[in-house]
Amino acid sequence: MNESELDRYSRQLLLPNFDVEGQMALSQTCVLVIGLGGLGNIAATYLATSGIGTLILADGDQIECSNLPRQVLYDEDQVGRNKVDAAAHQIAKKNPAVKVQVIAEKLVGESLTESILKADVVLDCTDKFTARQAINRACLSLKKPLVSAAAIRWEGQLISFLYHQELTPCYECLYPSLSDQQLSCNESGIVSPVVGLLGVFQALEAIKLASGCGKVKHGVLKLFDGFESSWREMRLTKDPECKACLVEK
Ligand SMILES: [Zn+2]
Repeated sequence: MNESELDRYSRQLLLPNFDVEGQMALSQTCVLVIGLGGLGNIAATYLATSGIGTLILADGDQIECSNLPRQVLYDEDQVGRNKVDAAAHQIAKKNPAVKVQVIAEKLVGESLTESILKADVVLDCTDKFTARQAINRACLSLKKPLVSAAAIRWEGQLISFLYHQELTPCYECLYPSLSDQQLSCNESGIVSPVVGLLGVFQALEAIKLASGCGKVKHGVLKLFDGFESSWREMRLTKDPECKACLVEK
């Protein structure tokens, strides 16, 4: 690390157990952020400013005015631009050392597989169940750690899967058959800080996975109630009928 990096990351370098080794590990880590909405915005921002090595940003959408309350990485004059291009532009201003690759399309099929193979950690920041199911199956099959989050109304949830260590339970054991409508905040509404909070937690889990510091639990669902400002936790169990798990047998 050079002088300016030592200065820039000095508050992280002070952390016992993190130190220079943790920072170096972070600088060599590639995180795939799928979805640059409210979750992906916040997760990508914190990973970039913390000194992650590479971010692959994937999203096929353009910025809309109604995104701005939650998607705080974007400026008002970026409405109409591709989310990934705008995000890459903003991240370059915050920390030009971060390598950013953009994929300005919905990540499916082979491009999903290729992107996951390049990544050390995958963050599912999408809001469609079909996308979540495909991401889960690909991460499970390629044995990549997956950090999944969602937020709707006043509620949020976070769950990590250490597929590089353990294979079950998986995301589909939890949600075998949700429809896309059930996950969308377009109709149900969302409180901005709730989605931001979950994005921050995704960045935190990714930093712990990258540095080897702290604890990331496999298959433990954390539920946040923004009305009460409280968390509760439940451990998932494997669904013996889970189609995704059966494919991997
Ligand atoms: Zn499963």
